[in-house]
Amino acid sequence: AFLRRIDNLDGKLHAYITKTADLAMAAAKKADAQIAAGEKISFLTGLPGAIKDNICTEGTKTTCASKMLENFVPPYNATVMEKIGKENPVILGKTNMDEFAMGGSTENSAFFPTHNPRNLSCVPGGSSGGSAAAVAGGLAAWALGSDTGGSIRQPASFCGIVGMKPTYGRVSRYGLVAFASSLDQIGPLTRNVTDCANVLNAIAGYDERDSTSIKADVPDYTKSLVEDVKGLKIGLPAEYFVDGMDKEVADSVHKAIADFKAMGAEIVDISLPHTKYAIAAYYLIAPAEATTNLSRYDGVSYGARVDGEDIVEMMTNTRTAKFGNEVKRRIMIGNYALSAGYYDAYYLKALKMRTLVKEDYDKAFQKVDVILTPIAPTTAFKLGSIINDPLQMYLQDACTVPLNLAGLPGISLPCGVSSTGMPIGMQIIGKPLDETGIIKAAYTYE
Ligand code: GLN
Repeated sequence: AFLRRIDNLDGKLHAYITKTADLAMAAAKKADAQIAAGEKISFLTGLPGAIKDNICTEGTKTTCASKMLENFVPPYNATVMEKIGKENPVILGKTNMDEFAMGGSTENSAFFPTHNPRNLSCVPGGSSGGSAAAVAGGLAAWALGSDTGGSIRQPASFCGIVGMKPTYGRVSRYGLVAFASSLDQIGPLTRNVTDCANVLNAIAGYDERDSTSIKADVPDYTKSLVEDVKGLKIGLPAEYFVDGMDKEVADSVHKAIADFKAMGAEIVDISLPHTKYAIAAYYLIAPAEATTNLSRYDGVSYGARVDGEDIVEMMTNTRTAKFGNEVKRRIMIGNYALSAGYYDAYYLKALKMRTLVKEDYDKAFQKVDVILTPIAPTTAFKLGSIINDPLQMYLQDACTVPLNLAGLPGISLPCGVSSTGMPIGMQIIGKPLDETGIIKAAYTYE
């Protein structure tokens, strides 16, 4: 049924870059046989899902929506693929994204933009826009995405589904094509909080192949699927209701706050004063790390090559032809911020700001259990409307990037609908490794 839906609708949505119908059918038949034989099956067994195209899948193209990796077939699986593979899910294909996960609308894909299933003239958000559109459009029951500065949470919000960025280190990054290694994290995009907890169960845990992976026990997240927010202290930071935020977005989040209060939660006003510097810090740190990570695309080891007279010309030709404009912009910003003479003024300053952002949260979490905020200042915008205005695009990330800087977990879930019929999302932020706390709060609200 899912494959049929993909056939019928993906021509409009363009959620998938690569479809793996044959592999999907084989897995489905195997799952049928497992069930028929009375085998004990797991949550994901036979459940059709989609994988963002920056997560390495052995034998299946992993393009990062870039011409650089257009024909790259990884010889190995990412750890998350190995982990979910044990449950035999049905993988329907690899989903569209902003090139190398740089963007917030999926319009930076080198191949085609994805459309929002709630309104085809709007973006699905990004960079995991293909995963969000697939789940929201019923073209997958669940999906994996990656979140460096909001790329799971913002598209989930734009498409009216649930998305979670786990604590940095909770899910292995081994086999996730690196964008900004100190910020990247893989997580689930699902139709509801129950599915989110189940998918997180399948992917979370220590991995010796990821040096930043956290050695800590993984709880059974489905145990947090209980309705109970009595006495829960929810922090409300004024700084997240940024200038230019749609009134409807702010109103919906405030309505959710009132609902939580009615259910017995205690609302505490808090201040996270360095929030206003988070975008500037992020847009120095992320490009700086990207500059280093993307230096591997040199036309030699793997990926595309465009020939030249000598090696320097070959590298130049390759990178000129195969990287898109946003990727080039980030490489230039990153190199600038890291160069001698500017390192102290930009990169080092950004690192200091990152610490201050984290300390704001540390202080707040002495008083509250979770923090509730909007996800983005607006609902899904029209395709083409801000793609030529990078600054405008970056400002969309005001509520999502601070968590990545601090490494905290955050869940995005629907809390309203705009007058134009577009979904509005809110974010619940947790203490480090307190995915359980935010799942419980989200489940109760949902
Ligand atoms: N929109 C942000 C950026 O362009 C976040 C991207 C992400 O989380 N991968 O960098």
